[in-house]
Formats: sequence, C-alpha cells, structure tokens
Amino acid sequence: MLAIRAARLFDGVSAAPVEQPVVLIDSGKIVSIQASGPAPEGAEVIDLGEAHLVPGMIDAHLHLCFDASFDPVGALAARSDDEALAQMREAARSALLAGITTVRDLGDRDYLAIRLRDEHDDLPTILAAGPPLTSPKGHCWFLGGETEGVQGIRAAVQERAARGADVIKVMATGGELTEGTYPHLPQFSLEELKAAADEAHRLGLPITAHAHGVPGIVNAIDAGFDSIEHCSFMTEDSAEADPVLLAKLAASPTVVSATLGHIPVPGLDPPPRIKMLLAKLTEIFQAAAEARVKMIVSSDAGIAPVKPHNALAYSALHFTELGRTNLEALIGVTSGAADLCRVGDRKGRLAPGYDADILAVQGDPLVDITALRNVVAVFKDGRLVHNQ
Ligand SMILES: [Zn+2]
Repeated sequence: MLAIRAARLFDGVSAAPVEQPVVLIDSGKIVSIQASGPAPEGAEVIDLGEAHLVPGMIDAHLHLCFDASFDPVGALAARSDDEALAQMREAARSALLAGITTVRDLGDRDYLAIRLRDEHDDLPTILAAGPPLTSPKGHCWFLGGETEGVQGIRAAVQERAARGADVIKVMATGGELTEGTYPHLPQFSLEELKAAADEAHRLGLPITAHAHGVPGIVNAIDAGFDSIEHCSFMTEDSAEADPVLLAKLAASPTVVSATLGHIPVPGLDPPPRIKMLLAKLTEIFQAAAEARVKMIVSSDAGIAPVKPHNALAYSALHFTELGRTNLEALIGVTSGAADLCRVGDRKGRLAPGYDADILAVQGDPLVDITALRNVVAVFKDGRLVHNQ
C-alpha cells in the first residue's frame, strides 16, 4: 500500500478541491482519498508537501510517429518500422514525464502505435487508431489508410478492429499536412461516413472525424460520429463560424476535440496558415463555447516543432485564453477527455477504484492553469515514474 500526501487535490470533476489529501493506493488502483488524517499503518508514505494533485492528463489527439520536426512526414518516410518505434517510444516517454498518463494516437503508419501499446513498456497508456481512413491521395494518404466506397470503408473499419484498434479515425476533409488536399473540402460522402460510423459502432468502437470545413463537419454530425477533431470552420481562404451549424453541433451528441496550444519556441511560429487563422479561430471557438458545443482539449502533438508530445499543458492554457475557466480546461484534459476516449470508468478522475495515474504539480491549477507545467511527480498505475 502506498499513501500519497499533498496540499490539495482536484478530482477531475469537482470545483471543490480536497484539502490535505491522503491518497491510498493498492495494486495500481486508488483505494481511498481522505482529507487529512493519518496514513494507515504499514503503508509506504510519499509526502509531496505543498504539491497539488490532479488526475494524470489525457491527450486525446496526438501522433507518436510524427517527430515534431519541421518535416515530420519526410522524417517518418525515412524511418524503418523499428526506427519509427524507437522515436515513438521517446515521444510517449516525454508525454509521460509531463504528466500525460494516457495518449490517444489518431494516426500512425503500419499500426505501430498498437505495437507500442502492446509492449507495455514504461509508457503512458496508449489508445490507438492505426492508419486513418482517407480517400485515395487524401489527407495523410502516406500513412497507408487509403480507401473508398461504402464496401471499402466497411472493410477498412473491420481491419482496424481486427488489429485491435481502440478508435476509428476518418479524414472527413483535407488537411494542412498533405499537399493537394483542401481542409475546406470533404473527402468522403455522407453515405461513406455513415457506413464508417455504423461499422465502428457495430464493432464497439468510437469513431472520430478529422474535419476543418463546414461540409465535412456537417457530414460527421449527420453520420453519427462520436467526435470531430479540429472543427475549425475553415473556408477556402479563411475561417468563419456558422451559428446554425454550431447550434446543430451543440444539439448533437458529437463532441469537439479542440486541438489547441503550442509551446513558445524563440524564432519558431505555428504553421503560417494556422498563424494567420489564429485570430479567426479564437473567435470561432468562443462562438462554439457560447453555443454550448461539447468540447475537450487535445494537442495534435507531433505535427510541428511547436507541438511536441509533452505540450498538453499549453493546450489547456490556450483553452483558457479562449475564455474558458481553469476548471473547464482541467476537465477537458482529464475526465472530459477520458469519457470521450471511453476510459472514463478508470481514468481521468481521482476516486476510489480508478487507476492511480496522478500528476503532482507546484501551484494550484484551479487558480493558475500554467501550474500544470510545474511537474513535481508523476505516478502511473501507482508507480512513481517521475520526481523532480
Ligand atoms: Zn492529427
């Protein structure tokens, strides 16, 4: 038995923190959380003093196989599977050390993230999509997920389920990373997306759509997708919120995974088009919040030097810069993300019965969200993996 003491605890849900918590852990699970009081006799005690405890963070959208270089696509193409796995291990490890104890990989090559997941190495819990479904020469076609037509789509979903994927990812529109594709244009018909969602749900898997432009967003909602990544409302040369669509989105069960944030690197900026659109996107995400669109916070880590795999704390910060509260941002990277990833019964909260995935930070993130970056210790399944 392990007992962790700290100054305060945010449980992943409640605005009211637990003062002077004693978290009791056995066999990797949280047994109890008491406010103050003694640790049980015989328990090993780790006293973290002034530290604040929060659930280990969950990044619901990243790419372990993209190395956060200037040319992640070229770098991956030059790597063998073994070389790519080594780089992915490092990426996952960097996430874990930043307190990200669960990652959802939304696009790899050759199902490498599933291989890494099954190594059970000293890594975060990995949920993986495998190669995203995309149209011929569509967004991220080079990852190997090209398919078309209702039959092709159903077969592609079945293959991923058979390979042990945790989620299905579909590129519903073009994307920034892939030349010759257009973020504002759809890549699949509604009929094709419906087939993908039906097949995924029939096989018990959640399904998420990469979608920037309005037609792709509308199709993903109408097809019954569980979530939409980015949801940036990009047009051919800008981005524009659509109040009618935001209302439709808010009324649907579909959750938006807002891929936010970037680390400040001197001399480095987000991709030019994204930078140009940032002001617009801020407006759009504020409108989405006002319309009460359900949102969680993710990073899309790996795709650029400003998005390394340990950047999720900056994503949470960005969410607050869009007008959301620290509590909403914290929920967005813990219990909210866990529910979306369908691990909400064991991750994303600090409560009895939950996995003892715990991040200890200096400062109170409910008061100052940047405290998420001041990592004091990380526990994964009750094991101390990081202590500064
Ligand atoms: Zn992505």
